[in-house]
Amino acid sequence: MSRQKIVAGNWKMNKSLQDAKTLVEMITNQVNDFDEVTKIIIPPFPYLNAVGEQLASKENFFLGAQNCHTNASGAFTGEVSANMLSSVGCHYVLVGHSERRQYFKEKEADFISKIKEALKNNISPIFCIGETIHERKTDNHFKVITEQLTTVLKEFTVTEFSKFIIAYEPVWAIGTGETATAAQAQEMHAFIRGIITDIFDSAIAANVSILYGGSCNAQNAQELFACKDVDGGLIGGASLNADDFCKIIFSF
Ligand code: PEP
Repeated sequence: MSRQKIVAGNWKMNKSLQDAKTLVEMITNQVNDFDEVTKIIIPPFPYLNAVGEQLASKENFFLGAQNCHTNASGAFTGEVSANMLSSVGCHYVLVGHSERRQYFKEKEADFISKIKEALKNNISPIFCIGETIHERKTDNHFKVITEQLTTVLKEFTVTEFSKFIIAYEPVWAIGTGETATAAQAQEMHAFIRGIITDIFDSAIAANVSILYGGSCNAQNAQELFACKDVDGGLIGGASLNADDFCKIIFSF
């Protein structure tokens, strides 16, 4: 997968099925012919099939999932496998989201297994990393990001890594209304490319799409997306409103 402009909407645990369908219709009506941006819609599991059917005929729109299990199948009540996601048309899955780290205590070993399962099923991981406010204030943010990336990426080959998207999401900016400044985002995205250069090489690092996430909205997206190393956004709250989400897509 080559480096692309991407806007992904993570709906988290929001919307009814009917509201989900209406939102997708409003979004695709507004941006369907704007095919220079890859659009990824990441609804809750129960709506994947319906949303996938709506997106199937749309220009450069893809379906993503918010999670997958570490195993391929079996007695894991309440869980969903990457194979199942693939069977309903998912091309992407979030792994390492800060809410999964914080509320579900997921760790690097889980992320590695989940990504392996995703890749086996031709699903690209959107691997999320980010530091807490304490880590930034104590000047540990570069160290934390280095560890989060290195522990996981060293388990993958260059070919496997070519399917990854990275999302830099400072935890202090997620759902808080506080966004990283464009300078802070650019600084960290460039740093992330540097780490990927160390793990793989500079051509691989130049080729990976790195998204910014954390209170990205219709007002700040343009400035963030103008940064050299920011390839788009992973959008939470603002992806629940069609006009806001479309404005973000048009922000490149
Ligand atoms: C997210 O959950 O990935 C996210 C970026 O959320 P928000 O845009 O609401 O901060």
